Amino acid sequence: MPAKIYESRWHGRGGQGTVTAARALAEAAFHEGFKGVQTIPYFGAERRGAPVVAFTRFSKEPVRIHSNVYAPDIVVVVDPTLFKSGLANITDGLKSEGILVINTPGNSDILDKVGKLPRGARVFTVDATSISIDFGLEVAGLALSGTPMLGAFARATGLISLDSVLEALSEIFSGEQGEKNLKAVEMAYEKTVEHVVPEDQYLDGDMPVSRRNRVSQFHSWRDLTPIPISKPEKASMGVTGEWRVFKPVYDREDCNKCLSCWMYCPESAVSVDEEGYPVIDYTYCKGCGVCVSVCPKKTMHLIREKEEA
Ligand code: SF4
Ligand code: SF4
Repeated sequence: MPAKIYESRWHGRGGQGTVTAARALAEAAFHEGFKGVQTIPYFGAERRGAPVVAFTRFSKEPVRIHSNVYAPDIVVVVDPTLFKSGLANITDGLKSEGILVINTPGNSDILDKVGKLPRGARVFTVDATSISIDFGLEVAGLALSGTPMLGAFARATGLISLDSVLEALSEIFSGEQGEKNLKAVEMAYEKTVEHVVPEDQYLDGDMPVSRRNRVSQFHSWRDLTPIPISKPEKASMGVTGEWRVFKPVYDREDCNKCLSCWMYCPESAVSVDEEGYPVIDYTYCKGCGVCVSVCPKKTMHLIREKEEA
């Protein structure tokens, strides 16, 4: 069973520290023991005040997908005005049982602003803007609300401890600025509260993904239909299987069927059997060892041809 990949999406405005917070979350996750961490900023034609999005993934195993996050487990809203701007589809694709963490001055109508939610979703809020202002976290009139939201993230999800967040921020900020950020995060952790979502606000299942996209439903290679892009054939240099000195083999017991070997084989010499295991076509496998390099379970390895019984 592959380790779960936790996917979070951050919505904010340019200049609020949203991208920095998403990156700090990845570092905090690493300190927490998640060995696969990843963060991706998405700016578009970004400038101060324009909506920005950032993504953070973390897992106990290496993360091998590198797309934007379209079906998040957690959504963090750094700027509450994005709800009314209509420029960001904040709850888009949020999974059932997902978590929404919102920076808001604590007004009671936050659930009205959020609208429909996927089954079992939970909503947490904190007034990160006021906390930022209280601790002097402002640049040119904009409150840096991103970092306090890390405290709210830790409190709401329980996935990352406050200590790991503080450790990550200590590596990013130093001196007086560092102290202000750490205190703001601690305060946000303390002040984060959960709102009870009325039963009739839930949809059945996940939130739909409104983005016009080609691959949003794919979260790993296992979700892809294993169709080779091209078929190997005899070429001017002969049949590539004749080049081979070492041949790749693997143990089905250890294989997790991730299909990285299928994905990366430069000869398309790997196909997939009915049970989802890779099958190597030795007529065309040239023994390059790419499949060995990408195998996360280290079960694919090379043996010399002559070692075969
Ligand atoms: S050794 Fe190279 S050619 Fe052979 S299956 Fe692995 S990746 Fe493909
Ligand atoms: S042999 Fe390795 S890379 Fe190929 S499917 Fe199995 S675990 Fe994945």
